[in-house]
Amino acid sequence: MKKREKIHLKFLGGARTVTGSKTLLEVGNTKILVDCGLFQGLKELRKLNWREITRNASEIDYVLLTHAHLDHCGYLPILVKNGFKGTIYCTHPTKELATIVLRDSGKIQEEDANRANRYEYSSHSPAKPLYTQADAEAVVNQFSTHNYEEWVILEPEIKFQLLNAGHILGSAMVELKIYDQTLVFTGDIGRTDPMLLYPPKKVSKADYLIIESTYGDREHDTLDVKMKLERVIKETFQRGGILMVPTFSIERVQEIMFLMYQLRNGNRLPNVPIYLDSPMGIRATEVFETYPKWQDLSRQDLQQMYEGIRWVNSYEASKAIVKDKNPKIILAGSGMLQGGRILHYLSEHIGNEKNTLLFTGYQAEGTRGRALLKGSSSIKFFGEYHSVKCQIASISSLSAHGDRTELLQWMEHFQSPPKKVFLNHGEPHQLDAFRVWIESKLGWDVIVPYQEESFEL
Ligand SMILES: [Zn+2]
Repeated sequence: MKKREKIHLKFLGGARTVTGSKTLLEVGNTKILVDCGLFQGLKELRKLNWREITRNASEIDYVLLTHAHLDHCGYLPILVKNGFKGTIYCTHPTKELATIVLRDSGKIQEEDANRANRYEYSSHSPAKPLYTQADAEAVVNQFSTHNYEEWVILEPEIKFQLLNAGHILGSAMVELKIYDQTLVFTGDIGRTDPMLLYPPKKVSKADYLIIESTYGDREHDTLDVKMKLERVIKETFQRGGILMVPTFSIERVQEIMFLMYQLRNGNRLPNVPIYLDSPMGIRATEVFETYPKWQDLSRQDLQQMYEGIRWVNSYEASKAIVKDKNPKIILAGSGMLQGGRILHYLSEHIGNEKNTLLFTGYQAEGTRGRALLKGSSSIKFFGEYHSVKCQIASISSLSAHGDRTELLQWMEHFQSPPKKVFLNHGEPHQLDAFRVWIESKLGWDVIVPYQEESFEL
């Protein structure tokens, strides 16, 4: 074996927060970045996207990407723009989904900068996009795709494999072997029994474990989501109303379509049109259809689950459906009402008490979705206030993250304790609660790293 070089782990993002996931691993002169996510949410966090993460991105040799969510892949265009020439390793579906997500993100960054310039509210003059669609496009050539459980050798003493994380299509944990040490990065880790995917791969050994903590302080409620969805649909149509579901394009909207397909099969769905009015949702669903083997579904389910959904691609078609006041189900982005076609539906239908707005995912602080869930009587978009008369409903138990008990059960498969456990991807109170929980239940040595904190392993 070659002389053992020092291994350093540095938390560049996703430390004491849930966005911007980026962990730098240095083995001698080799630099590996695990995930390359965008900071999102409050302005203080978003400002971190403008800071260079290393003096020179060209110093980084490899990126290992766990999955296609923006908070894990959304910084890649900046890394490439700043000189990163290396390979980005991920699964096949992750490459396809990340390509869609990054293009959309580049478009939004450009639109935001244009709007800021038009209304001159940026402190930078002129406002520049963080990155453009062209920057996002440039990332695509650097992906190298792999199956789960396929060892990839990076350097003589460094190899890794991607393991199913059960979080979204193609999502992976990263198991790295460096000399005789094993490091496992969970990325985001799914439920014990995901709706469409195979359960997260069980791991029995790691010297160092880097694990997410999004739900480290709580359990998901055990409500039957299908029954709840059926009830909301039924009540809305008994009033002759329209059901509007703001959707997240990857995994969640496919889960909702799967639940509706099951209701339809059981004759529990009224005969009304269902529209998927989301260009990004449609493109993501096409990726789901391309990778059937990556999903734990029967051939029949895979063939039939999207039948009966009307896909709305053109803006003209969308405008006509927005104006129509007949009962229907609308699935449209964005999931937290921060933009997208759902706002056109709200503009037309939010003021009618017959209609329902149904949330199916987490609503972050500062979003219109959070304001409505908290009971706001009006929300502002398209430059004016709209008073809220429609019914507001929520299915909170749908989640792509394992809860505290599920994460613990996953850790209980370890045959011996890791030397150190690092908690990331959580808010400070979640991280602290999870640390105490692991220490008390398993007696493991747990660290909650700070942003920029570095450790020698
Ligand atoms: Zn994720």
